[in-house]
This record gives sequence, structure tokens and C-alpha cells, in this order.
Amino acid sequence: MVERFKPIRFSRAGIRGLKASATIAINDRVREMWDAGRNVYHLAFGESRFPIHPKIAAALGANAQRRSYTSALGIAELRRAIAEHYGRRFDLDVAPERVVVGPGSKSLIFSALMALGEEIIIPQPSWVSYGPQVHILGKPVTFVPTRPETNYELELDVLEERIHDSRQNWGNPEVFIVNSPKNPTGTVMRPEKVEALAGFARDHELMVLSDEIYALTLFSTIPHVSISQFYPEGTVVFGGLSKSLPLGGWRVGTAIMPREKGGKALGQAMSNIASNIWTCTPAPVQYAALIAYSGDPEIEEYIEICRQMHAIRTKFLYRTMNRLGVPCVEPAGAFYIYPSFERWKEQLAARGVHNDNDLAFHLLDRYEIATLPGSDFHAAQDFCLRISSSYIDVATDEHADRLLAAFMDDPNPERFIRDHHPRMQQVAERFAQFVAELKHEAGEPDTVPNLAVV
Ligand code: GLU
Repeated sequence: MVERFKPIRFSRAGIRGLKASATIAINDRVREMWDAGRNVYHLAFGESRFPIHPKIAAALGANAQRRSYTSALGIAELRRAIAEHYGRRFDLDVAPERVVVGPGSKSLIFSALMALGEEIIIPQPSWVSYGPQVHILGKPVTFVPTRPETNYELELDVLEERIHDSRQNWGNPEVFIVNSPKNPTGTVMRPEKVEALAGFARDHELMVLSDEIYALTLFSTIPHVSISQFYPEGTVVFGGLSKSLPLGGWRVGTAIMPREKGGKALGQAMSNIASNIWTCTPAPVQYAALIAYSGDPEIEEYIEICRQMHAIRTKFLYRTMNRLGVPCVEPAGAFYIYPSFERWKEQLAARGVHNDNDLAFHLLDRYEIATLPGSDFHAAQDFCLRISSSYIDVATDEHADRLLAAFMDDPNPERFIRDHHPRMQQVAERFAQFVAELKHEAGEPDTVPNLAVV
């Protein structure tokens, strides 16, 4: 029940049932706990926390005078640099006119969801804000479950079935969100699946919103292939500087419009939305972002270094779960793992933990580990947690500087974790303790593996 404050009256549209973004809320909460002197292992937020590259920092300083509004779609130079970046890095033939720059990919996804279609198809699990954005817009959602057995890839027969069911109920699913590398599972869609999905979307005349923000944070042998490679006339590709470079707070998002006339019309619609809501992306940030998209060898090398550090840290957490016997699909990109604790459902119930939300609270309360429950990610299965490697041992700028220096000095993964990740090792020990207790309560053989070895 929401209290009433005269004369403030809340609007029904959008706000009713809308919660704060789970990622932003937990990040604020952990910071408050830290400020209050509490020890919390922050595994709940996905932000690249490594140091800013000096060339990028200098570019922002040099452009502080850029104080005029820019075009809603972004400055021409940046749109051109982004188009070239997509050609160079992803082999996509993109004309600069197809590029839209916005204050974070979040705002661009929202404006595309506003501009397009009647009903939105969202995979389960998937990023926390897709559902709430659609809710704000008052559009219906068709959820499509995915499973760990199939690496959380979308299954075409399930998709077909869900679309059919929705249509039987007067629904009209027209827009469909895909995300690879995927938040919250860290999994990557195989190229053959990407191609099959493109064919499916074309056959069903669905628009695809392809969130590829983690495309350069990949660490498997599976290459990143954009669905727009196979379906350029019906795909919007989203990206930005928040993940491959440590620039989340800069809010630089990009969207590549579909090819052909429809794409042009969508670009116009997104421009109309942007110009009436946020006007433009901050000008100094746009000019400074030019260097990030320039292909400068030093910046490209830094993206690669960041990728390798994310890979080592994320794989360590994955191996920890693996050794403890916690079911978890192997991550292939981003900085997330998505283990399931369902196996100990009964033991958890005896502790008063009845779902993944309770489980996340329990871990924070009893073990000082902050995670996010799968249900925040529209999960289809209970008792999953999203665990992010990105904050641990780099919570302060000094730590981030030291960690980068250590990696540059010796990139050996084993020593990198062992000698420079004290909190990562502590949190692994805490998970080991938690799981050992559950196993004990379940009467399972209690073998606590040696976690010191990477
Ligand atoms: N995408 C990041 C995450 O999933 C954080 C930023 C956000 O959600 O807006 O944790």
C-alpha cells in the first residue's frame, strides 16, 4: 500500500508496480553498507571497474569547453567513428547515418521499445531492466523461458509456441529482445543459432532488438556474431562503452538502425523521442568518446587487457562453483555466472529460505555476500543467483590501479588471482563454507576442495 501525500498524486501509468532497477538498487545498498563500515563482498553489480585509460581521460579534459547542445542523434564525427568501429571489429557494413548515439544503451533500448511494436518478447532470464522498461510503456510482454541444459539459448520451438499462445489470446508479439553475450548467464549464442534465429525472425516478421553491449568482453572459442549479419533489415544493434572499457558512468550508448527505408524511419522516430526527452548525449563525453572508437592501437590493446582480466576473474568464480558442486553453466563472456542452489532446496527451506530472493538476502545477511536473485532477471527457474566478478578487489581506484599494474607485470592467471585477489579468495571461502553447511545438513559427503588453486 503506497501512502498518499497531498497534493502529490502518483500516476497510474507505468509507476504502479514499478520497482527500482535491481542492479542500481543493490549497488546503492552495498555502498551504504560500506559507508556504514560493514564488510560486504560486492558480487551484485556489473560494472567494469578497471582504471580509465589516460588517453581517454585526457580527451575528456580537452573537450570540457564543448558546451553547446549537439544533434539528438550524436555528433557526425562520432557516428562515423562508430560506423567504422563496427566494420573493423564486427565485419558489419554500417553507414554513419544508421548510427544513433545516446546517454547509455539503456535509454536507446527504451526509446526503441517505445517506437516499435505492440507486444515485446523477452527471454527468461535476461537483464533486469527489459521487463520494467516495457512495463513503463504499458505494453504486454511474452516471456520465453530458456534452460541451462541448452546453455540458455533460445529454442525456436518454445519461441514459436509462446508466440502462438499469445496470438491465441489476442496478443501481437512484434518485437523481440536478444542478448549475447548474455546477462545474467555469461553464455554466448552459437553462430548457427544466431543464423537460425534470424531466419525465424524474418519468417515471423519480428523486429529484433539485439543487445550486444558485451560483444568485446568475450572469452570463449565461440565468436560473437551479430544477428544483424543475417537480418540487417530487421535488427537494431545496441552497444556502448560501459563494458568493454571502464566507462559505465560516462553513459555512452549506441544503436545501429536496420538497413533500408524502415531503418531510416526508425532512426527518425528515435531522434524525435531523444530530442523531446534528453536532447543529446553530453557533448564533452561525445567528443572524448571519439578516441575510444578510433581504433587507436593503445586503446584496442587496453580493451584486450580488460577482457583478459574479466575472463580470469569470472572463470575463477565459475571454477569455485564447479568445485563446490554448485550447478552452473560455463560463462563465455561478460562478467557473470549464474549458479543454481536448487539442489539444496530442502535445507534452504529449513533455514527459512524459500526462493531466490530469500537466498540473496540470506547470503547478504549471514555471509556478507551481495548477489542478485534470478527473479530480478525474469528467471524461469528458482534458486538461481547472478554473481558478478566485476567489482571485487577493484572497489576503490587505488585497488584498480594496483590490480592493473600487477596484471601488466605478470599476466599469469593463477598468480594474478592468488597474489592480487584477497577478497576474491575470501568470498570463495565463504561460498565454500555455505555449501559445506548445506551439504552437511543434507547428509552429503562433505569435501571442501582447495580453492587456493586456480
Ligand atoms: N548492466 C549492469 C548489470 O547488470 C549494471 C547497469 C545497469 O543495470 O544499468 O549489473
